[in-house]
Amino acid sequence: FKEGILQVVSKIKSSVLLDTKELDSIIRELQRALLKADVEVKLVLEISERIKKRFLEEEHPPGFSKKDVLIKILYDELVNLLGGETTEELAIKPIPYKIMLVGIEGSGKTTTAGKIANYFKKKGYRVGLVAADTYRPGAYDQLKMLAESVGVMFYGDPQERDAVSLAKKGIETLEKAGAQIIIIDTAGRHKDENSLMEEVKVLYRELKPNSVFLVVDATQGSAVARQARAFREAVPYGYVVVSKMDGSAKGGGALSAVAASNARVLFIGVGEKIDDLEPFVPRKFVARLLGMPDLDAILQRFAEFSKYEKERAKAIAAGKITLLDLKEQLESIKKLGPLSKIAEMMGLQVKVTGEEEMSVDRWINIMNSMTMEELLNPDIIDSSRIRRIARGSGVTPRDVRQLLDAYKNMKKMVKQLSRSRRVGLPPFS
Ligand code: GDP
Ligand code: MG
Repeated sequence: FKEGILQVVSKIKSSVLLDTKELDSIIRELQRALLKADVEVKLVLEISERIKKRFLEEEHPPGFSKKDVLIKILYDELVNLLGGETTEELAIKPIPYKIMLVGIEGSGKTTTAGKIANYFKKKGYRVGLVAADTYRPGAYDQLKMLAESVGVMFYGDPQERDAVSLAKKGIETLEKAGAQIIIIDTAGRHKDENSLMEEVKVLYRELKPNSVFLVVDATQGSAVARQARAFREAVPYGYVVVSKMDGSAKGGGALSAVAASNARVLFIGVGEKIDDLEPFVPRKFVARLLGMPDLDAILQRFAEFSKYEKERAKAIAAGKITLLDLKEQLESIKKLGPLSKIAEMMGLQVKVTGEEEMSVDRWINIMNSMTMEELLNPDIIDSSRIRRIARGSGVTPRDVRQLLDAYKNMKKMVKQLSRSRRVGLPPFS
């Protein structure tokens, strides 16, 4: 998954124009990567359509390169695919908090039970493990050893065949011993699937766990979607642990299958050792997946930009004009050509001097040295800011003051204009 996505990123970085042709080839690369990771075809098509549409139709904020915009959209859509922005941790309430693990045999339940016990022990909780897999030989020993190595309480009974009464006894015993979190490992195989689901159902009804975690195996890719549905019929699990994410090309499929099923991926298993468990935060995961050291900086700039977007919308609503408006006006005038040309085009009989010609460039240059905050609130520009801006744009403080004066005059004019409108006078009368 990671390799495929890295290929997409490098394709974006090495693109030249980022025109529709290049965009299409990048999207095809992304589709290949997602399909290879076993993401459902329908999801792959949806995500590529949306990326294309957003890139072509959304207005690109000024000051961002096309590449930055595409990376940001890719980032957003991958985060969405893998479960969205949720980051809150599991709330351990009430105490004792009972967690029941379910999942098919081999999915990594018992290992995960040990890892989760370790995770919460490190957070300072007193944890207990219950070995309620009475079906698989060796399940008792496996969990007991894990409990000993982590250093948490354990309850099991290799003679007991009835999982329900065993688990009830285990919970009672561990609760008395002061356990704050009780983790119940269950069987993943039975005579047949029906009897497995039947046992899971009865366990849920009788034990009343506070949370059910479904454990799935990343290497199973899109087959995870089927397991998720099958267990959903038996037990309302709210969280999923995706094990074996280490070195699994199909991890993307497993993750997106879970995200599409409305459950939340809480942890991922990234190895066989007890510490190989990570809380799953889609945002962080995708950032790492994209493997870009400068991604944070890009995202930061987008976040700041949208903050200023809001401020700007407020200024516009209040009928204020800002230096940013002036800057954009001048920039769009510049695009048309030299001022003398524009005057000619408009049929104006004015002579544009070289000095005026230059001052447009100089003003744009000065405003390029201002921060977004200064452009939106020119009132904050005091003499020390003026000195900084002058230094940054290679002009004198007097030049900066001239620009600010011109801006103030413009503001006054606009104000008078709107006042005269209000009293019903035609403008420019
Ligand atoms: P269960 O049948 O669902 O209880 O699964 P187990 O916990 O017994 O795990 C089955 C196998 O998967 C064992 O060999 C584990 O060591 C291995 N396993 C579990 N989680 C991970 C993981 O995150 N990464 C890797 N590489 N192996 C894992
Ligand atoms: Mg097991």
